[in-house]
Amino acid sequence: MAKYPEKFTGFGVLNHEEWNHPKKVEFDPKPWGDHEIDIQIETCGVCGSDVHCAHGSWGETYSPIIVGHEIVGKVLKVGSQVENIKVGDRVGVGAQCSSCGECDLCQNGNEQYCVSCAWTYAGNIGEWNTQGGYASHIRVLDRFAFVIPEKLESKYASPLLCGGLTVYSPLVRNGCGPGKKVAISGLGGLGHQAVMIAKALGAHVTVISRSDSKKEDSFKMGADQYIATNEKGWAAKHAGEFNLILNCGSSLSGIDMQSMLAVLTSADGRFASISAPPITEMCSFSPFSLMGKSISQHALGNAKEMRDLLQLCADKDIKPWIEEIPISEQGTHEALTRADNGDVRYRFVLTDFEKEFKDAY
Ligand SMILES: [Zn+2]
Ligand SMILES: [Zn+2]
Repeated sequence: MAKYPEKFTGFGVLNHEEWNHPKKVEFDPKPWGDHEIDIQIETCGVCGSDVHCAHGSWGETYSPIIVGHEIVGKVLKVGSQVENIKVGDRVGVGAQCSSCGECDLCQNGNEQYCVSCAWTYAGNIGEWNTQGGYASHIRVLDRFAFVIPEKLESKYASPLLCGGLTVYSPLVRNGCGPGKKVAISGLGGLGHQAVMIAKALGAHVTVISRSDSKKEDSFKMGADQYIATNEKGWAAKHAGEFNLILNCGSSLSGIDMQSMLAVLTSADGRFASISAPPITEMCSFSPFSLMGKSISQHALGNAKEMRDLLQLCADKDIKPWIEEIPISEQGTHEALTRADNGDVRYRFVLTDFEKEFKDAY
């Protein structure tokens, strides 16, 4: 019997000991409002944040918690004040599901840094704990849902919604484009999308990785050059070469910052990072090595950047490299476990929601 819309169904992590054994649970959707939309989910990417959150490595959350914030699905219902989205549209939802909408940050394209920002899971909106995309449905504010261009298949659109946006925003905010030499450090779920996106934006793209193991993949993704940092003298060889390095590695303490800064151009070379290491991590480098250069840390992107990214990927036929796993208790277990082990080339996408949640529709 169809339960919609009173209850949604998802795979929730019950406690951190069983972080990779989500169980099928029912949950109450967020209270309805004039700007809410209900989405029947088709695909959901598996982000590193899902693993961190399930583990509890970024702090305690509620139980059960349903992770997943690379959500694509079909709109089933819209609130009376929703203008840009209609029933039947295919939309995506990323890692952010709310913000105040009124502060300077929200008014100027920096809603991801709003102090009232709520994440798609592990967040709170009033009394309600947010629940993510390993689920039958999601109810979300219209300004955090984005119509997916027709040309983009759902399974390829999913990884763009968190991973893709997270690299796209710092790339464009730091001048990635024609005539620029851009290096992507760390070729994983995010880094591999950064290579394709930086290339599509017109930059000359270099991959910086520890060893040669990802060299072949990098060139297939469109990279123009490859640097393995286990080769002696790499920094001297490339001194002053790059306008921008986007660090997509999981930490900053694990990389040689002196060398990274040395390969940036002396005038306005930029080191932008999106890594989200444990909050206790520290990073050190000589201030002299930063002469004329800058370092920044970024989170997600804004609504315009999300729309621009989706259109760019549709126009340039960008497809993240994915492995598909049908959603189920077993499927979510496998995806979380293998993502935790780095055993994925390069992003998992959960599929077959219609089969698994047929009782919930
Ligand atoms: Zn994410
Ligand atoms: Zn705000």
